[in-house]
Amino acid sequence: MKKYVKVLAVIFAFALVACVFAACGEKADGDNVIVFGTNAEFPPFESVASDGVIKSADGTQSFDGIDMVIANKIAEKMGKTAVVNNIEFDSLLVALQNGQIDACIAGMTITEERKESVDFSIPYYTATQVMIVKEGSDIKSAKDMAGKKIAVVQGYTGETVVKDLGYEYEAFKKGTECVMELVNGKCDVVVIDSATAENYVADNQGLTIVEDSSAFEAEEYGIAVAKGNTELLNQINEAIGDMLDDGTISATVVKYVDEAE
Ligand code: GLN
Repeated sequence: MKKYVKVLAVIFAFALVACVFAACGEKADGDNVIVFGTNAEFPPFESVASDGVIKSADGTQSFDGIDMVIANKIAEKMGKTAVVNNIEFDSLLVALQNGQIDACIAGMTITEERKESVDFSIPYYTATQVMIVKEGSDIKSAKDMAGKKIAVVQGYTGETVVKDLGYEYEAFKKGTECVMELVNGKCDVVVIDSATAENYVADNQGLTIVEDSSAFEAEEYGIAVAKGNTELLNQINEAIGDMLDDGTISATVVKYVDEAE
């Protein structure tokens, strides 16, 4: 009986040590991973890809795009591995606030409203809203959208811009849905970010882009972190600064924009 108790004690001791090690291992892993939140519905910045440059935490999904390359490079500079949590665009800032993700890279425009809930990095890309119409459309400027059927993506700055111009619109969950509405003649115009618009126009025949710099201001994309996470923000800013200086970002943009054409 005594011997039996001793054996049990030894087993427990081993189990305890194993648990402690396992916990340590997990922590060490956690420290070496940076979780980027994105919404992989925004080519050429992020999309789901079978052979993408970055994976989800469980390794089952893979993502590609300009932001994904940037995320990898930031992690690399920090001596970490980047993984992606692909969530709805509207949920990204909340995910930052509740610690579900470390940083958000999603072609996200830095806005005063968003700055109330999160902190943004220095800008890494400048975009603008544009209109996608069918070739031959009579929409030549933003004011021509009056009385037309306008499609935007819910929660994108495109929605805010159209709302501020005072037009009625229909909001969809995804950019691809808006483009399908246009292709199928169910709407007249889609308002969305410039590089993404070019991507859709390259992928769908018979569409063209109309710009109007008097109606649509320049927008700057930034990476968001939870409010007050200055340590991470400083590291991200340093990495972006380096990549802007050494041409990594412009080369990545050229690569992904050329690929789309
Ligand atoms: N730049 C736009 C925004 O911030 C769209 C971003 C996106 O769809 N990923 O709302």
